[in-house]
Amino acid sequence: MMTKTSKIDALKKLAKHHARSSRTTQAKALDQIAVHLGFSHWGALKAQEKKGWQPTDECIASLKEAVESTNPFARGAEGSFGTLGANMDGPEVQKSGTVDGVPYLMFVFQDDIQMEGEGWRIVVPEAPNASPIVSIDERFSEECRLNEPKLLSEALAIAEVEAKKVQARISSDWSRRSTKPNAKGVVRHPLFSEMDRRRIESDTWYCLHCNSKVSGHEIAKNLWHCPSCGASPIDIFSVPFWLEEGDDQPTPYRSPKNGGRGEPVIEVIDNRLRLELSEDNVTLLIRSALLDDAANAGERLGALLAEISFDEELGVWVTFETDYWPEEKEAIQARAVAKALGVSFDQDIVLCEPPFAWPGIAEFSSNTLEYTQTMLRAYEEQTTGQAKPNE
Ligand SMILES: [Zn+2]
Repeated sequence: MMTKTSKIDALKKLAKHHARSSRTTQAKALDQIAVHLGFSHWGALKAQEKKGWQPTDECIASLKEAVESTNPFARGAEGSFGTLGANMDGPEVQKSGTVDGVPYLMFVFQDDIQMEGEGWRIVVPEAPNASPIVSIDERFSEECRLNEPKLLSEALAIAEVEAKKVQARISSDWSRRSTKPNAKGVVRHPLFSEMDRRRIESDTWYCLHCNSKVSGHEIAKNLWHCPSCGASPIDIFSVPFWLEEGDDQPTPYRSPKNGGRGEPVIEVIDNRLRLELSEDNVTLLIRSALLDDAANAGERLGALLAEISFDEELGVWVTFETDYWPEEKEAIQARAVAKALGVSFDQDIVLCEPPFAWPGIAEFSSNTLEYTQTMLRAYEEQTTGQAKPNE
């Protein structure tokens, strides 16, 4: 059983966690906790406590659940609040549902929210002020229900709920001073340490990417992504060390009146898969066809050792190593593959130093094991043969 004080302490502790993950003040979080328990504010709760009121264990449990539901990544042991977020990242953990009858899958990928349906995808970026990106497959663009503004805004609202949870997890991972400026507007960089020999606390920050000058308040509010260009926290510095004499001075960032995320960016994209006849792709197919042509272990080595090049003007050019690929042997399959791809095919031969002695053994081996064993025996005979005169 919890004692009187430990129950109130439990509430305070929950408020502290909530303040950190929601980037609000401790006082506001205490008020929210009180409201959740049916009081108008924390002061009212404390007044009732003086008269003997105590939260029940059920109350505390339900409150804990409510706090965790806004930061579901935080279910660690007490004191290690907010360290499980990384486990939730990636398409393996998915949520599914429907928006007005339209099915979707949703997951977190590198702290962005990705929501996908047939022929469409919404990405809600990690940075709280970044515009959502809505991609619609050209083939579905006519009938895509995301064209309906009401449905789109409902979908965005669902994704935003998840985005808020990611923000809560990130904020809980960082030091409090990184998300809550002090009275002078000073904030601490969430990633850099003094080891980096950079000033890690400041009321003004600079973006290496776009040369913006951002207040501590603004950079903390946008979770350390540049509010102007979206650059990530590693591009944000307290000193614009990249500037030299005569360079343009950093541009002060002014936040838009409304704040929040910008309007969604909607793009219609052509998602159809197209064959790319790159040299790598063509040579891979040709080499595979040469293996089809190979009749024994030696010719397979020949197929693997062949130099294959491709460019659009000259087509496919194969140079065989004669030790493993007989001079007179036709690469019938490889030629047929080149024809199927609509490119020309030529071959020549070259004599190289073979990787193993007696390459001819390979010609009489049906598989690699047989070849390896015969070759090992031949090498062995060599060494024992050489050893003999010394005996
Ligand atoms: Zn920037």
